[in-house]
Amino acid sequence: MSIQTSPKKNILILGGSYGGISTAHYLLKNVLPKLSGPGPYEVILVSASSQALCRQACPRALISDDFFPQEKLFVDISSMFTKYPDGRFRCLHGRVTAVNHTKRVVSINLSSGQEESIDYHALIIATGASTPSPALGLNNDVPQLRSSWAAIRKVLPTAKSIVVAGGGPAGVETAGELGEYLNGPPRWLSSRPNPPKVDIKIVTSTTNILPVLRSEIAQTAEKYLAKVGVTVIRNVRVKKAEPSIPGEDKNDQIAVPTTVTLDNGQVLETDLYIPATGTTPNTGFLEEMLLAPDGRVETNRSTLRVEKAGMRVYAIGDASSFSRPTVHSIFQAVPILCANIKRDLLLSHGATEAETGEDSIFKEDTREAQLVPIGKCKGVGAVMGYKLPSFLIWLIKGRDYFLWTTVKLWSGEQWTK
Ligand SMILES: Cc1cc2nc3c(=O)[nH]c(=O)nc-3n(C[C@H](O)[C@H](O)[C@H](O)COP(=O)(O)OP(=O)(O)OC[C@H]3O[C@@H](n4cnc5c(N)ncnc54)[C@H](O)[C@@H]3O)c2cc1C
Repeated sequence: MSIQTSPKKNILILGGSYGGISTAHYLLKNVLPKLSGPGPYEVILVSASSQALCRQACPRALISDDFFPQEKLFVDISSMFTKYPDGRFRCLHGRVTAVNHTKRVVSINLSSGQEESIDYHALIIATGASTPSPALGLNNDVPQLRSSWAAIRKVLPTAKSIVVAGGGPAGVETAGELGEYLNGPPRWLSSRPNPPKVDIKIVTSTTNILPVLRSEIAQTAEKYLAKVGVTVIRNVRVKKAEPSIPGEDKNDQIAVPTTVTLDNGQVLETDLYIPATGTTPNTGFLEEMLLAPDGRVETNRSTLRVEKAGMRVYAIGDASSFSRPTVHSIFQAVPILCANIKRDLLLSHGATEAETGEDSIFKEDTREAQLVPIGKCKGVGAVMGYKLPSFLIWLIKGRDYFLWTTVKLWSGEQWTK
């Protein structure tokens, strides 16, 4: 295996989702065209998935392809970059297996089966995080996601019980969507379908679901969930979940009857078990010394540099420790990250600090913010510390789970200055 070097300086971006695609467009539109001296640069985006996904839509999209136009839900990444001049951008479909930050080389297992190593002048880590359920994001590529959806869809017509582990937004949204789909929409005068066609339970280790939001909002969420046949078991953790088909192949176990044991001794037999208990950062290809204790890349929260990895290495998105894992944090951070990359590229070309100016600084917005649809017409949430009515949650997110925002995002139009 040879290391691919070229006269061009490579700006390598790992991960083809909100963080990686946004950074690539921003650099190609707003940074590289303005750097007349240094370079030439090539932006190379490496992604385990050839398509970008509106990840927020997964809780509804997993139920049926009829709920979203599929050509908007999944978008081919390469085709979003054809507008840039030849030689400026390349997309590689493959999985990063190692980063040697001393030699500044990334190893990639391409989807074709070939191994490739590429050196970098600058590196941006944006490989996100995986969910315990393969149905809630691109842990791998689109075919694996679709096969997990197919397995779930197959059991829905006959399921009598569902357990969702995790009372965060992913768990609540998934339970709410399944509740409305299987038990019917909420009725005005009824607090809960009696009896619900399918018994759906959320198991949460916290006192309230949606712990990022104030308890009053969480209680409203529980009321809406009850209307679609979802109950909440609180202050208890899932100790183990044993699928009726044992073995190593997790794909066979996605939608099979499962025995769920809680840490208070209670045992739940369920036809479908969906774990939504947080995420695991996709950072296994990095040396441990670059990681924070929670597995995310240890990132300077102001400048987005990964200082322990050497010059011109950055991290953004769910793989990074820069902020809470949200799309709006990424949007806030992209211009700052790219301004600091620009500054560092100029410095490496001999510019002085006086010429480049100071670092741009990211400051996380820590105000209460989360929008949680519960089925197609209800929802709870807050933005910038203000509680929003159910109607606004529907308008902003619940009607199509932000699919209205992704056309501009994936095409890069969002970053046109
Ligand atoms: C069900 C659900 C609902 C959500 N809803 C919201 C919401 O409403 N609002 C909000 O703000 N946030 C929401 N989030 C969080 C949001 O989805 C994440 O913050 C966002 O997806 C992070 O984007 P990212 O670019 O960091 O990485 P990800 O979206 O996780 O994508 C990572 C990309 O990197 C690729 N990759 C991974 N490993 C490798 C590797 N080794 N080599 C190459 N490529 C690799 C993957 O294929 C993927 O394309 C939700 C999350 C989930 C799970």
